[in-house]
Amino acid sequence: MKLYNTLSKKVEEFKSLQEINSGSLVSRENPKQVNMYACGVTVYDYTHIGHLRKYVMDDILVRVLRHVGYDVKHIQNITDVGHLASDDDEGEDKMEKGARKYGQSAWEVAKKFEDYFFYSMDLMGVLRPTLSCRATEHIQSQLDMVLDLEKKGYTYVIDGDGVYFDTSKLETYGELSGHDPRKAHRETRIGEIEGKKNPSDFALWKFEKAGENRQMVWPSPWHPRSFPGWHIECSAMSIEHLGPELDIHTGGIDHVAVHHANEIAQSETFTGKKPFSRFWVHHNFLRVNGEKMSKSLGNFFTIDDILKKGFKPAALRLLFLSSHYRSEQNFTIQSLEASQSALHKLLQAYLEIKENHEDRSELENSDEAHQLSKQFFDAVENDLNTSEALTIVWKLLKSQLSNAQKYRLLLEFDRVLGLGLVSMDEDDLPKSDKVTLQIDDLPKDLQDLFRDRELARKNKDFAKSDEIRTKFEEAGYQLIDQAGSVLIKH
Ligand SMILES: [Zn+2]
Repeated sequence: MKLYNTLSKKVEEFKSLQEINSGSLVSRENPKQVNMYACGVTVYDYTHIGHLRKYVMDDILVRVLRHVGYDVKHIQNITDVGHLASDDDEGEDKMEKGARKYGQSAWEVAKKFEDYFFYSMDLMGVLRPTLSCRATEHIQSQLDMVLDLEKKGYTYVIDGDGVYFDTSKLETYGELSGHDPRKAHRETRIGEIEGKKNPSDFALWKFEKAGENRQMVWPSPWHPRSFPGWHIECSAMSIEHLGPELDIHTGGIDHVAVHHANEIAQSETFTGKKPFSRFWVHHNFLRVNGEKMSKSLGNFFTIDDILKKGFKPAALRLLFLSSHYRSEQNFTIQSLEASQSALHKLLQAYLEIKENHEDRSELENSDEAHQLSKQFFDAVENDLNTSEALTIVWKLLKSQLSNAQKYRLLLEFDRVLGLGLVSMDEDDLPKSDKVTLQIDDLPKDLQDLFRDRELARKNKDFAKSDEIRTKFEEAGYQLIDQAGSVLIKH
């Protein structure tokens, strides 16, 4: 199996540490462990489709590793404290901000959005990690790590602010990003923390400011009301659950320069082992309509927004799989519509094959079946080339293979793609009794409402346009927004 490694900036042959140490190659008959850590979400707001793409691609990685024969120990954290508004240890804690926004305690907000995260993941067919761990439940191991770094002489305290890691003491600091991160820090910094020795130094532990009255605080040797920094949680939890040398660490590309550089610095100093992780896998961004997702642009979608528009989570998953995880992907409603019709086509074909595949004598593995299987798994094992793998799925459907062979291969492929064909049936196909209407076909009151909605959409008043859509749904109509028009289904 090949995987791009941000550390070497190359596609490399992947082998797990256990595999290397045992001297025997992995196979499904000879499984080997992979220690994999994935940076999880900060649970201060709703999981959006940008997150969904990242975790769907993590899921593909896990499924491919399992197919190859690895026993994947997949640890994913929940950041429920210490992630400040800026990655540079400044600004408000996102959890406290979320608490104010939703009028609940920081603890309630953390629970609410952790639940929403897993609700979204389950709908997307993302397998649960081996262990999901909360930063607030690992305070002691984070504190122990900072105390160890202090004892080793890598830290200093800024009065009234926090304990900082002195990056000038580490020759190799920032090698992951392949450029001088100290310079990058200087270029991107908005404000300067008084007392920092170097711009790239980062907080390991923070102190409550006078009058701040934080909800999430713990006593520490430096301050009675303090809390861990964001970076230390990933180091502490990954080492506690996976040991000092990880096989794979994943995260978004926005984490390369700061968060992951800091994780490496503190972990390698703590364990004395290098590298902290042998492979670093980074996911690229999802844009929406060519822009960064934001609520003010009206292009911020949760899984519920997608469901409300009449789409299936599997259609969104199929859309994510059509692009490579290291490329930026541009999401549009039109691309999701195309993906949903492709999903329906695939499902239709699958159901027909399932109906007519009884002939067991056809099960023998033909050369063509073997070839297609090899092409599919070569693609996914080549740095997760999912779009190439999808072309093999279509090739399989068009092939001359018997239904029995097609059925067997489709299910085998879907164990990696995770579209969940096996649990779908006719009810997941579009209802043929739904017809497309023109505005004039609508009752008079709905015609007026439809025009109000057109106006709201023109004015980018998405709240109002969604509200009107709901009224249509209550009356038994479905509105599907397309470029320059709206389809009305009844
Ligand atoms: Zn992390």
